[in-house]
Amino acid sequence: MRQILLTDLCEMANDAKPDLQQAAAQMGRPVKIYAHWTAGHYGQFFDDYHISIDQDGGVYTAVDDLSTQLAHTYRRNSGAVGLAVCCAYGAVSADNLGPEPPTDMQIEALSQVIAVLTSALAIPIDIQHVMTHAEAADNLDGDDRWHTPYGPDSTVERWDLWVLKEGDPAGSGGGIMRGKAVWYQNNGGL
Ligand SMILES: [Zn+2]
Repeated sequence: MRQILLTDLCEMANDAKPDLQQAAAQMGRPVKIYAHWTAGHYGQFFDDYHISIDQDGGVYTAVDDLSTQLAHTYRRNSGAVGLAVCCAYGAVSADNLGPEPPTDMQIEALSQVIAVLTSALAIPIDIQHVMTHAEAADNLDGDDRWHTPYGPDSTVERWDLWVLKEGDPAGSGGGIMRGKAVWYQNNGGL
């Protein structure tokens, strides 16, 4: 795990773009970005994600090549980039995200990472391309070819980032995350 700057991330995305596009095309889908929480502790990293974001907003990578296929999002991993905020240990519901909820700095850094990646990979910031794991689990991009639903609207096996903050409206996490990413792309000077 090594810490990187957003400029490094941009370079990595440019390098990985052709291979990601090819892997996605082979599955008949666009390149996608999936955002997770680890359900672990602050400062606890996992190798399942290309990019991990710690409590203080620091951005880390587990790979040299963003097109390396990792196991982050069930049956959606080829041609996809997996992001994670290191938090949410003990989260039990939208009203109780436990003692280590996503921090403001994690959410802002996640949104900046999405802004940089979507720019470099030339994909729009919409639910068809940039999803929380909660949304992907329920196939909210309309692509139900890969798995039956297992998110908050069905079996609730995974509900990462269903909300970004305790008490937010259920299901609002993805929309807020994408809205912030759009803002950073337009105004953030990234
Ligand atoms: Zn997840």
